[in-house]
Amino acid sequence: MKTIGSLFSAARRSLKLSTFVRTHLCTCLLAVAALGFGHGAFAADAKIPVVAAENFYGDAVRQLGGDRVDVTSILSNPNQDPHLFEASPATARALQHASLVVYNGADYDPWMAKLLAASTGAQRTVIVAADLVGRKGGDNPHLWYDPTTMPKVARAVCDALSAADPAHKSAYDANLAKFLDSLKPIDAKLAELHGRYAGLPVTATEPVFGYMSDAIGLAMRNQRFQLATMNDTEASAADIAAFERDLRERRVRVLIYNSQATEALTRRMLTLAQQSKVPTMSVTETLPPGKTYQTWMLTQLDALQKALAAGDTSGSNSATNAKGKTP
Ligand SMILES: [Zn+2]
Repeated sequence: MKTIGSLFSAARRSLKLSTFVRTHLCTCLLAVAALGFGHGAFAADAKIPVVAAENFYGDAVRQLGGDRVDVTSILSNPNQDPHLFEASPATARALQHASLVVYNGADYDPWMAKLLAASTGAQRTVIVAADLVGRKGGDNPHLWYDPTTMPKVARAVCDALSAADPAHKSAYDANLAKFLDSLKPIDAKLAELHGRYAGLPVTATEPVFGYMSDAIGLAMRNQRFQLATMNDTEASAADIAAFERDLRERRVRVLIYNSQATEALTRRMLTLAQQSKVPTMSVTETLPPGKTYQTWMLTQLDALQKALAAGDTSGSNSATNAKGKTP
């Protein structure tokens, strides 16, 4: 992952100016919000106010806290690219009242640390997923697709809820055990896919599925192209040509399409894959409505399995590539 890490950093550096502008905008918005909305007091038996920057972490908190928590998730719009999100006064306002805050970190949601630093809210616990799994800015930030992340976040959330509300500790412990148990089918599916498909070449329009692809042992191609999509920068002509060649010559078994981070170029690749009869499957950045984290992951893994199986029987020449031949 060393190469990809430095690529993430380089791409980030090119965005420095817009980040600077955004930072200052956020600070101004926050100042406005602070004038109008004071910090509320909560009765001892009230629900614990929680803010999750991303709705999949919010869903985990809801499962762990049950009716003891009141969860607000900031990133939850399935039609919005989270990489382009900018915080609003409503974001700052929600944070002011939170006693527990959960966010991803690793530069996925840089506005969170800024809002928290500027907010003088009362005592609150902050859980940063990246810190729990040893990731930082420059790494692939889509940590919730790493099967080792959610169990760690869940344990930290359970600890925080028990500390805030010791009277219900046994309920939180029971919810944690249930939650960890409910992740087992995801691990089982990953192991099954690894057993059958490890080593096969695949590609993607954006790196959101990267950790899960690694867990299955797939050989992910065209990573520079994916970073350009993520960072909203332009892919190089050579990277575009390489991607197109992979699809046209069916050197990859599946195209993993991020339907939440799209642009003309990614849509073009999707069309080219369909024309070239390379199986495709869609993934999203955030939790779609009506799903839990677990059903979301399993649905996507089922779709990947179908796509890989379709590639199996479509006469693709890429199976030979998987055995070590360099294209
Ligand atoms: Zn992304």
